Amino acid sequence: MTAADYDVVVIGGGIHGVGVAQAAAAAGHSVLLLERERLAYGTSSRSSKLIHGGLRYLESAQFGLVRESLHEREILLRIAPELVRRVPFYIPVYRATRRRPWQIRAGLALYAVLGGLASGTRFESVPRSRWNDLDGLDADGLQAVFRYDDAQTDDTGLTRAVMRSAQTLGAQLHCPANFLSAKWIGDGFKVHYLENDGEKSCRATTLVNAAGPWVNAVLDRVTPRPSILPVDLVQGAHLILSGEIHRGVYYVEAPRDGRAVFVMPWKGRTLVGTTETPYDGDPAAVRARPDEIAYLQETLRHYFPHREAALLDSFAGLRVLPAGRGPVFRRPRETVLHPDHPEHARLVSIYGGKLTGYRITAVKVMRLLQKSLPARRPPADTAELTLSP
Ligand SMILES: Cc1cc2nc3c(=O)[nH]c(=O)nc-3n(C[C@H](O)[C@H](O)[C@H](O)COP(=O)(O)OP(=O)(O)OC[C@H]3O[C@@H](n4cnc5c(N)ncnc54)[C@H](O)[C@@H]3O)c2cc1C
Repeated sequence: MTAADYDVVVIGGGIHGVGVAQAAAAAGHSVLLLERERLAYGTSSRSSKLIHGGLRYLESAQFGLVRESLHEREILLRIAPELVRRVPFYIPVYRATRRRPWQIRAGLALYAVLGGLASGTRFESVPRSRWNDLDGLDADGLQAVFRYDDAQTDDTGLTRAVMRSAQTLGAQLHCPANFLSAKWIGDGFKVHYLENDGEKSCRATTLVNAAGPWVNAVLDRVTPRPSILPVDLVQGAHLILSGEIHRGVYYVEAPRDGRAVFVMPWKGRTLVGTTETPYDGDPAAVRARPDEIAYLQETLRHYFPHREAALLDSFAGLRVLPAGRGPVFRRPRETVLHPDHPEHARLVSIYGGKLTGYRITAVKVMRLLQKSLPARRPPADTAELTLSP
């Protein structure tokens, strides 16, 4: 058994955990991050890999989320130019498409306004003369194609880069290290975790639970047991198919139910996703289901009927959404930060969230913990730290 003292111990090495480790180290704190498997093992390697405002969240009036995400997108484009790149997005509108051209135009105009009307927020209607240059997009019944810009990343690469940045500032990473328990001992937590060479312990002034779909499993191991927010896990599947998409990302409506599906370029291949399927099994066992694979293949064939697209691989990740009734599509997608105490948080749990907003989420977590932490001199600002692959 070894013991050390940390201002902040973070559980989980997904994008949120590494983001908090970086923010804490940038604020001058001593930090230890515990990751059970490997960095980005959970949802952070199974996302759609988009750094975006979430155009479709405008339909559920989540304007604050969209504005904040667009702001973060611009920061990431600036500080991580090798990891986050702007890409054109195309929205085709057919006779049968549920959203009409005027609705898309209005949505894109609002998206541009929420993005501060900066240069990256312009959109256009693609002239008919350019339609046959769109990766074989079916032109039968096509009425309009809109183009706007958002960004794409490598989610695993981004997670690793943020951790490296945190380590440069002095944060420590223990991986694989399985968080076993934490007990409040009056002036901090006694934390136990398991590494390959046995059980270890340390003292943490504050704790951050960034365990993604395992968020409540982690809280179950804290004494005294903190309150827990009930959640629904909803899986989203992606397919990787042969054949390269060149022009950008296509944002289409699944013919079966009108849900948004992205067809994306991905490392010389095609990435298609995603789905929304309730999940109640072991988070580590989540896989794309045959019905999800069929749904995504059908969507791809519908819009790109002449493309050769052999299925090469598939994966699925889990959204952590507030438990509730009604369609998953309508549930709020805001990140929920759950402190153990409203004014004097010692433990903050992160529920849900977006890859795009990891940096600002980490800033908010640190604000919640501020009163419990010793005053330190911040050596850096995460909005200015360059991230490289
Ligand atoms: C299908 C899908 C598509 C998405 N697409 C996008 C997108 O395009 N753009 C976007 O901005 N957002 C997207 N998101 C959201 C985004 O991917 C997630 O919000 C984000 O990755 C969650 O990261 P996390 O760090 O909270 O959790 P995770 O990445 O799941 O990390 C949790 C980590 O905790 C570790 N852990 C668990 N228990 C323990 C323990 N006891 N001890 C130590 N470690 C432990 C796990 O091993 C894991 O690595 C998508 C989400 C889904 C599901």
